[in-house]
Amino acid sequence: METKDKCAHPSCNCPAKQGSKYCSTYCEGEGHTADILCGCGHSDCKPK
Ligand SMILES: [Zn+2]
Ligand SMILES: [Zn+2]
Repeated sequence: METKDKCAHPSCNCPAKQGSKYCSTYCEGEGHTADILCGCGHSDCKPK
């Protein structure tokens, strides 16, 4: 059974990693910053 929580970064739409509230270390570091574009690098999330 997988839990599919969204990344806790306000600007990120990626699913969070298992055991984490965030999808990546980027979001872990920037998750407190609500006014920034997500730079986690996931293709679903990356600006074109
Ligand atoms: Zn993201
Ligand atoms: Zn994220």
